[in-house]
Amino acid sequence: MIRVASITLREIRLPLVEPFRTSHGTVKARRILLLEMIDADGRHAWSECVAQEAAGYSHETVDGCWTLIEELLAPRIAGVSFRDPAQVHAMLEAGAAEARMARGAIEMGTWALASMGENLPLGELLARHSETGRESGSAPRSYVETGIALGIQRSPEAAADRARAAAAEGYRRVKLKIVPASAVAEVKAVRSALQPDVSLGVDANGSFRLDQPAHVATLDELDALGLSMIEQPLPPDDLHGLAQLQARLATAVCLDESITGPLRAREMIELGSGRMVNVKPGRVGGFQQALAIHDLCVRAHVPTWCGGMLESGIGRAYNVALASLPGFTEPGDLSPSARYWKRDVVKPEWTMDAAGRVRVPLEHPGLGVEVDVGFIDDLTARATTVRAG
Ligand code: MG
Repeated sequence: MIRVASITLREIRLPLVEPFRTSHGTVKARRILLLEMIDADGRHAWSECVAQEAAGYSHETVDGCWTLIEELLAPRIAGVSFRDPAQVHAMLEAGAAEARMARGAIEMGTWALASMGENLPLGELLARHSETGRESGSAPRSYVETGIALGIQRSPEAAADRARAAAAEGYRRVKLKIVPASAVAEVKAVRSALQPDVSLGVDANGSFRLDQPAHVATLDELDALGLSMIEQPLPPDDLHGLAQLQARLATAVCLDESITGPLRAREMIELGSGRMVNVKPGRVGGFQQALAIHDLCVRAHVPTWCGGMLESGIGRAYNVALASLPGFTEPGDLSPSARYWKRDVVKPEWTMDAAGRVRVPLEHPGLGVEVDVGFIDDLTARATTVRAG
């Protein structure tokens, strides 16, 4: 039985290697909401909310999640006992269905506490809670293949240079962010810069429209370029349009923003709206939901992989644990710490070997890495603690 004694919220400003341009200007540090959950036996579990500073990718923001966690969600969990972390999702979801990132931060922390309580590596705990994992009896992987997501570059040549450098570092898949106007030129330049064994995919973040003939023509051209997937070509809600498009394309459509939970994954499978899923546990409300999506996909023979949300090394630990499950057959967006952060908040930092793999720390329960609390103290902009009432 786990009893959560307190949940501390902290906002840190983690310095980025490269400044990050947003519609609000250029930021040199990412604002990140971290949680530190302490149970009645004195175990500490750190977790991370994947919300960004500004709305855009999602309506959830750092400030919005802070308020919701402090006022609504943390008081529901502080003082509560549970046997199984899979029960926590239902406790959080009532009246907060759309708050997936805020819920996910708390929910995943309870899995880390359970992992420590049972002295089981997090990947092992997840495998035991996955229906298909139990049925197959497969152990979590000890290494996960890694891909890189490259933002929109200033020219096809610049994209090709970045992709070539990434492949030389060992990345197993290159994913290009695309917009309709420049997609074909970029993909052609990058494909010819890469060896044939490096997988190339694209992510349109919903920027194409089926009612625009030029967009459809571009998708047809992309379809002939040997891509491993076209991620989220159309807006998230358009599952019928995505099904029409998938029927037209030989290339797998991968859904990301569309997959808000297992219900949408089931709709995707039944309608044929895609043939691959990018699962982000911090965006779908946590591990219980991510495991349900994984199990649906495994049963339907839909390959999945674990995406990233510019997490610190704390959020990364949860993604690596999830990506170690057998259904995650495609490389995850699990770039090493040094790609984004001048210094990460965990020790050791996450690294990638020359074969493009991240090691899963299966020898430890919890996150599998040590949290650098002193460094987090230095970075903390605000903190507050919610205790059992
Ligand atoms: Mg995406």
